[in-house]
Amino acid sequence: MFKFFNGNKKVTETLYKQNLELAAKNKTLSLLERLYQISIPALSPEEMAKEVTDIICKNLNLEFAGLLIFDKKADVLTPLAFSKSERLIKVLSNVNILFKDIKIPNASERDFFMPTVLNNLDNATNDLGEPWEGLIDPKKLHEIKKESHIKTMLLFPLIIRQEVLGTLLLALNRDYETLNTFEKESIKSFINIIALLLDKAYLYKNLQDSYEVTKKAYAFEKEAKEEIAKMAEDVKRAYVVEKQAKEELEKLDKVKDQFLAQAQHDLRTPLTSIMGYIDLLLGGSFGRQNKKTLEVIIKLQGLANGMIKRANNFLDLAQFRLGKSGVVLKPGIELFSILDEVKNDLDFRAQSKNIYLKLEKPLEKKLLIKADREKLKATLFNIIDNSVKYTQKGGVTVKIKDENMNEFGSGHKNQNEKSSKVLIEIKDTGIGIAKERLDSLFDTQFERGKEAEKVSASGSGIGLYLSSQIIKLHNGKVWVESEGEGKGSTFYVELPLSDELAPTEK
Ligand code: ADP
Repeated sequence: MFKFFNGNKKVTETLYKQNLELAAKNKTLSLLERLYQISIPALSPEEMAKEVTDIICKNLNLEFAGLLIFDKKADVLTPLAFSKSERLIKVLSNVNILFKDIKIPNASERDFFMPTVLNNLDNATNDLGEPWEGLIDPKKLHEIKKESHIKTMLLFPLIIRQEVLGTLLLALNRDYETLNTFEKESIKSFINIIALLLDKAYLYKNLQDSYEVTKKAYAFEKEAKEEIAKMAEDVKRAYVVEKQAKEELEKLDKVKDQFLAQAQHDLRTPLTSIMGYIDLLLGGSFGRQNKKTLEVIIKLQGLANGMIKRANNFLDLAQFRLGKSGVVLKPGIELFSILDEVKNDLDFRAQSKNIYLKLEKPLEKKLLIKADREKLKATLFNIIDNSVKYTQKGGVTVKIKDENMNEFGSGHKNQNEKSSKVLIEIKDTGIGIAKERLDSLFDTQFERGKEAEKVSASGSGIGLYLSSQIIKLHNGKVWVESEGEGKGSTFYVELPLSDELAPTEK
């Protein structure tokens, strides 16, 4: 009987054990099934953590289950989700604390977390204060301990590819020793699954992030392509506008050419034929003229010459204003011969005014420059003609100097030290120029001095302006010096010398 009773007790014990094992396995199975269910939808790491902790907390009747992600570089454990029992929710709200808000810094230096994050080991403690030491006010911790009935806390590493991805923190209202082997094994059996679920959530998040980046890059590329297409359209339009503008300018250029040709023809042709008739009259082609008629014809010749000069000035000015200087520089032009011709043209005028006009021969006579001979001659004529025109007593002296104002060729220069410039000095003893007019004399157009108007009625006030423009186009300079009104004037024209010979002489 006793034996039977004893035997019966053993059977009952075995049955009881098997029953416990079955219950634990049943729980584990339903837990695994729930975890499997949440592995199907695409959840963010936070959503996944919340689902996991909710399931574990409820199924294992825990006080809380927390999932913390581990940042190895920063050595910080950051809570992703905390699920709590009804009682703990109340306790925590009384002390106004949320475990989820508390990050664990220097995790690898804390006694409780160190074995888990450094050596992938499980850990356990009976002291609720341990995980949050220094992070929660001790008074509040004491309050939580007292009210929450938490007896044990277990910490498990969540390992993926040999690295600690995070930790699972569980709180029980029983002592660790009271957990039976099946319960302990059951917990261990789903830790790996939780790690996998969390890893999956992060992979999904990374995938989504990189998809977002790709999407943004694609949108950016599309925008850039559209911008480039727009720019190409703009360039095309600008090209069309430019082409039109070019055509318009070409048309305008043709009109300018026509205008100049017409003006030259209209002004010069009648004057040239007048001069032709005058020459014929003076040459006796229309019979011998008496003295009086000859005097009138000579006066007419002077007037016609003046008209030609003014017409030429006007045409030159028109050319400048229309942006067509008409100046073409040629090498091998001899300067002294130009001055000599100008002097000869003006000798008669100086003689009739009873003033002298001297051109001093330089020591070196072959002074070669690059010039538009006709235009330069007209320019020098303008300046020397002015000096003759505005001098009543005395006369005009033209000298050729080097850049140091010495008579050209007299400087102590050897063969290697040739002057690079030549200076023409036109000095008169005429009406002079007021100091305040000196600077602007070459810039103004159609402006004449009062004294100049008195001395000579003929004049247009554009001669000097044109002269300075033409000299600039010869890469030269022109300026004037005068001690003031009644004290004579000296004009200077500086031009670069050029050894280059005329093409025929080469
Ligand atoms: P124009 O001689 O036809 O008036 P210019 O442009 O040649 O026009 O000269 C402008 C002005 O410069 C003249 O009106 C005169 O006042 C002054 N000028 C030019 N040359 C001399 C000179 N040699 N002596 C005094 N004044 C001069």
